[in-house]
Amino acid sequence: MNQESIKRGGISVDTEHIFPIIKKWLYSEKDIFLREIVSNATDAVTKFKRLQSLGEIPSVDDAYCITVELDKDARTISVSDNGIGMSEQELDKYICNIALSGAFDFIRKYEGEGAANGIIGHFGLGFYSAFMVSDSVEIYTKSYMDAPAVHWVCDAEGTYSTELCDKPERGTTVIMHVSEGESEYLDKARLGGMLRKYCAFMPVEIFFKQADDSTEGEQKPVNDPSPLWQANPSDCTDEQYAEFYNKVFSDFKQPLFHIHINADYPLNFKGILYFPRISSEYESIEGQVKLYYNQVFVADNIKEVIPDYLLMLRGVLDCPELPLNVSRSYLQNNSYVTKVGAHIVKKVADKLNSLCNLEREQYEGIWDDIRIFVEYASIRDRKFYERVKGSLLLTLTDGKHVTIDEYLEAAKEKHPGVVYYTTDKALQAQYISMFAKQDISVAVLEKTLDTQFVSTLESYRDDVKFKRIDSDVADALKGDGEVTDQPALTELFKRVSGNEQLNVSYTPLKEQGVPAMLSVTEESSRMADMMRMYAMSAGTSPMDFPLEYSLVVNTTSALYTKLQNLSKQDPDKAELLARQIYSLSLLAQRRLSAEELEQFLSGSFSLLELL
Ligand code: ADP
Repeated sequence: MNQESIKRGGISVDTEHIFPIIKKWLYSEKDIFLREIVSNATDAVTKFKRLQSLGEIPSVDDAYCITVELDKDARTISVSDNGIGMSEQELDKYICNIALSGAFDFIRKYEGEGAANGIIGHFGLGFYSAFMVSDSVEIYTKSYMDAPAVHWVCDAEGTYSTELCDKPERGTTVIMHVSEGESEYLDKARLGGMLRKYCAFMPVEIFFKQADDSTEGEQKPVNDPSPLWQANPSDCTDEQYAEFYNKVFSDFKQPLFHIHINADYPLNFKGILYFPRISSEYESIEGQVKLYYNQVFVADNIKEVIPDYLLMLRGVLDCPELPLNVSRSYLQNNSYVTKVGAHIVKKVADKLNSLCNLEREQYEGIWDDIRIFVEYASIRDRKFYERVKGSLLLTLTDGKHVTIDEYLEAAKEKHPGVVYYTTDKALQAQYISMFAKQDISVAVLEKTLDTQFVSTLESYRDDVKFKRIDSDVADALKGDGEVTDQPALTELFKRVSGNEQLNVSYTPLKEQGVPAMLSVTEESSRMADMMRMYAMSAGTSPMDFPLEYSLVVNTTSALYTKLQNLSKQDPDKAELLARQIYSLSLLAQRRLSAEELEQFLSGSFSLLELL
């Protein structure tokens, strides 16, 4: 090539300003240079394919691909495509005459405020991000049209030269000469990691190789050019959804369910969201939603799009309506993003409802894993609650599940509008068995959030009250006969309990085998549960909060009759019996304190001596 055909120039008047800025200001986001160059290459292929499908050029039967090659010795990273290519005029127009002045004004305005993030993309400077890591950049390109191939080279100051060259095949190769300070990008693992992160779903196959690598045979693309979210949901199988989840999140626990969203105009986004399986209440529940722009990775963990109460969701969203370079603050204040979030909430609710209505067995199977999140979301967002209220289940002590309305329907004769629940199946076992004998279903609400959920539900609907099973003993379990007053026995119980304020009632219960039970107030038991929850979240050990309770003495029990007789004939024995009855009623309701346990044991020994 003779010297006359070489053109030289400087890229725009402001290059001496823009080049240092590109290098310095985008420091934190340097890795994106690879995304920018590779996505230009995919665009070039897509454009070429489009021209064919529009019939503007005859169809060619090419295998489209992009090759990223690392040459450590030459200190270069090159990206080659067989896309549309550029003629000399196009190179001049698109690469050399970049509209830097707009970008320059912007940068000058915000200088010092660290607001340069996203500038590159906003001003179509994607290609120039290569200079963040390079001393010089070369382009070899040949247009799909009948035009000679061109070679362009540009140094770090923005001085470039263009010459015609021999490049027989259509397409573009960009060669980045990595600068001294950026040698980390010459590491194969580092570069491979960046490709997998930013280019995992770009729409053209991308091959990654190292110049001196002899293992060429088994080359596989590093990306999946047709990600599952682009497919029609009715064409996708459960296995495909599970496999996609495993691959994207490196989590081999199967997710509980997935939601494939394909929102039309005006939202116009696609995505797949997964509800992950969480092994324990204490496992980190941080979800992860990856944002894409036409299959190009934009950001990880975009908390701004998903309401915080659904943050355990994992998945991918592809939003071509958002710019490629979005900042967090942009997402936070964007009405489109708010609408996307609202649409996701609706889709999650729809999914829960369809599982509950159409796949009840599967839904019941996952309910205990998802309910904490559904409850939390219901507490946080009344609108979400209103959408899912028909699909909120109660888990009963026998392991069955019913919706709240199904429970109320079954209860409408015996205890209308009341849901009985236990907060501790082991500790409250005696109450549970007494309720079971009366055919009253009891819901298990043992999780820390449940008390708050129950209170929220009561505030949302006034036709339901929740009662802990030890809070309504006298009403729920009462048999025939009158409630009476026994002042002498009450005095005795006050003395043996050491509680002068003890409230004692004498009620005929249906169950005859139990002489007395404690009845706590619903308010104090909720308060105690709340205190336990706060203690746990504050990391202190949960202590038992004192409950307000009364003693319900069962007048149908044989021991009650015995106590009445003894109180007249043998006051010492009557006191021993009353003490034991009281201790047993405590034992059936909660853990005993050291002092109570000691009294209970010594009372038991005295009783055994009487045998
Ligand atoms: P943007 O991609 O946002 O338009 P860039 O600075 O990345 O901005 O690229 C500028 C232009 O250069 C592109 O719009 C395209 O016309 C051209 N270009 C860049 N890379 C290639 C390529 N690999 N093949 C063909 N044209 C390209």
